[in-house]
Amino acid sequence: MEPENRLRRFPLPFPRRRLDKRAVDVVLRLQRAGYEAYMVGGCVRDLLVGRQPKDFDIATSAKPEQIRRLFRRSRIIGRRFRLVHVYVGREVYEVATFRAAPPAPGEDGEAQLIKSDNVFGSAREDALRRDFTVNALLLDPAGDGEILDWAGGMEDLRHGRLISIGDPMVRFREDPVRILRLVKFVRRLEFTPGPEEIAASRELAHDLDHAAPPRVVEEVFRLMQSGDMDGALEDLELLGLVPLLLPDLAEWLEGGKGRREKLAARLRTLDDWVLDGGDPCYSLRLCFLYGPMVEEELDPATRTMRVNEFAQVPATIFSRLQERARLPRHALSRASKILLAQLRLDPPESMKRRGRRWNPARLVEQEHFLDALEYLRCRLESDGRDPGLYDEWHERALSLQDGGR
Ligand code: ATP
Ligand code: MG
Repeated sequence: MEPENRLRRFPLPFPRRRLDKRAVDVVLRLQRAGYEAYMVGGCVRDLLVGRQPKDFDIATSAKPEQIRRLFRRSRIIGRRFRLVHVYVGREVYEVATFRAAPPAPGEDGEAQLIKSDNVFGSAREDALRRDFTVNALLLDPAGDGEILDWAGGMEDLRHGRLISIGDPMVRFREDPVRILRLVKFVRRLEFTPGPEEIAASRELAHDLDHAAPPRVVEEVFRLMQSGDMDGALEDLELLGLVPLLLPDLAEWLEGGKGRREKLAARLRTLDDWVLDGGDPCYSLRLCFLYGPMVEEELDPATRTMRVNEFAQVPATIFSRLQERARLPRHALSRASKILLAQLRLDPPESMKRRGRRWNPARLVEQEHFLDALEYLRCRLESDGRDPGLYDEWHERALSLQDGGR
């Protein structure tokens, strides 16, 4: 950690009205009760780079029970990290007590983890335990608003630099998931990591082998919302991480010509869509990543399968991922449905000939229909095909809906 780590204060560089009003109320209520309280982490960073934050996290000197007592609609959650969910209207805000960094690097044993994670700390300690300097800024909404910066995050943010708090060799070894977070921020914010951060990522990428698979897969899925998953996949390849993170996909990519390009094209349509404001659900993200692989298996030109055997293909492919990552079951089954719906929306020649008659209205009524249609649009685009089929289905869906009223 840098020896100076002095507190610097900056006036809010954007209009205060951009702050979520209810989150401000939660912070001010804590402050009026005599506690320190701030907005922290991703929301402060996103506001400063001009992005709309996904959520507003709050950190405070109040202990979980004290927070709980202050807000009628709140409850304490979590065992390892006890935090409080405060409900305001339909929104939920995560309020956490300041924590200090775990005492020693190296996570050996669950017992030590449990103890060390609930060591409460000061605002300063809470800032400096975080991963990157730009993620360690605190925002005090009182008065005109102010940014509190112990790690030099404001300076790094101005220069678009992604810098670890303290030696990245130590911090990435402590928690290798930070390497994936680095890729995410580099791609999403177009920030440049420092040379030490790059070297440490290369050196320690394989430590991700020891990280908890659900956390790792979660970060991979967050990469897909970055707007540059195409680039992120390249980063993961450079770090030698694809076989480690997504072994089944890596095997498939290596097993045939043209597969990598096909996947890249598919991910570019995903990126365009995200940059256009699209927010792909978990199931759709699964479709983009595994779609080309599933489609190859489902291609009647290369496979002889009965229609009812087709139905098993996506689930079989997803099962290996499921074993490692414990993804929500409904997201996986929905992804299967979206991929199988493509055979209806865009039937291969051989199926057109053999196909039994079926009713398009049944498909349009399905809960996953709109996602299946969106995925069709992206598939046609990424395969360089005419978008006419998408337009036809769009029209048909509208007329079926009107007819149904
Ligand atoms: P996103 O925008 O994808 O949600 P985020 O930075 O907000 O990214 P969260 O997982 O929501 O990430 O975590 C909130 C904050 O907690 C981060 O901004 C960071 O300060 C801290 N944090 C999260 N993960 C880690 C980690 N692995 N190590 C240290 N600090 C972390
Ligand atoms: Mg966040």
